[in-house]
Amino acid sequence: MVCEQADVFASACALARAFPLFTHRSSASRRTEKKTVTVEFFLVGQDNGPVEVSTLQCLANATEGVRLAARIVDTPCSEMNTDTFLEEIKKVGKELGIVPTIIRDEELKARGFGGIYGVGKAALHPPALAVLSHTPDGATQTIAWVGKGIVYDTGGLSIKGKTTMPGMKRDCGGAAAVLGAFRAAIMQGFKDNLHAVFCLAENSVGPNATRPDDIHLLYSGKTVEINNTDAEGRLVLADGVSYACKDLGADIILDVATLTGAQGIATGKYHAAVLTNSAEWEAACVKAGRKCGDLVHPLVYCPELHFSEFTSAVADMKNSVADRDNSPSSCAGLFIASHLGFDWPGVWVHLDIAAPVHAGERATGFGVALLLALFGRASEDPLLNLVSPLGCEVDVQEGDMGRDSKRRKLV
Ligand SMILES: [Zn+2]
Repeated sequence: MVCEQADVFASACALARAFPLFTHRSSASRRTEKKTVTVEFFLVGQDNGPVEVSTLQCLANATEGVRLAARIVDTPCSEMNTDTFLEEIKKVGKELGIVPTIIRDEELKARGFGGIYGVGKAALHPPALAVLSHTPDGATQTIAWVGKGIVYDTGGLSIKGKTTMPGMKRDCGGAAAVLGAFRAAIMQGFKDNLHAVFCLAENSVGPNATRPDDIHLLYSGKTVEINNTDAEGRLVLADGVSYACKDLGADIILDVATLTGAQGIATGKYHAAVLTNSAEWEAACVKAGRKCGDLVHPLVYCPELHFSEFTSAVADMKNSVADRDNSPSSCAGLFIASHLGFDWPGVWVHLDIAAPVHAGERATGFGVALLLALFGRASEDPLLNLVSPLGCEVDVQEGDMGRDSKRRKLV
């Protein structure tokens, strides 16, 4: 790879996507020897010295994160169900010396997680909320990354058609990105509190499946009339962000999800969509995307005009919009934010990665590079600092959204 210092991170992450780990081709299983691909970097332009050992270490962790996420997303649900996803989380936890918190099945119901439980209760493998927590001394803020982990989305009783269901193994792309990024971020020395929250469920069909018209009580305390069981991601994420706020005390909550097919219409195949209550973080996401290769473009954030799409006569809200021609990707994100409350003083960032989670038939590991870059300043690593939104001098004057965020929690 011949590139400038500023493009090393993005180039390495792009290369990682070209070598996916998952395959069930019989020719691959017959091959006993492991294939090794050696990548050399030649730096040109400014700072064109030899690549530092610390840089190589950072690239190794980042690319392993990208490939881990892509492997999980490429694996079909017959193998990557909620049980096996939990094993992946435990395995990463073990590498990092962290025991995950896991709330599962009937315990979800008992503790009020009506979103995750309601979506996953019809499946053979029960739903789960899992959390990996990193709480170093000297942390100045608490960040939660909340990932949508729908290991398969049939649509539930509002079932998808035969042409729209294939590929729904990828509906766990947000949770996979959070796992890959968390592993790499901690390995690179994350200085703040960081919680990875995984909302895992299979949206299945069965006698116990949620029906349209059912009303669920979510962890936020708000009630939701289900008018579309295929709008399930926002239900599990609503519980995830509420938990991050109420139980983890997070100041900054970022959720990442393959949330809406409409995201591809709004921002296309290459750019994720960002929806946030902070103009600074919106700009930071766009900037981080350009530096790491996981591109991002903003959606309109306007709860005062859009949230009425969810009006219900019998509950606090419905889970799907009245008018699908009225910025549906923005509205879907607003549903999640409404469970924090639109007056919540913390920073909320929503990334819809439905289209860029894959390129053709293969997962991209989208989101891993983006989270590492966006929160690059929480590490001492020079490369992550370089690709962070505050990573070059021109950017510093544009506002201080890094470690000294002015928007803090009140409680
Ligand atoms: Zn769905």
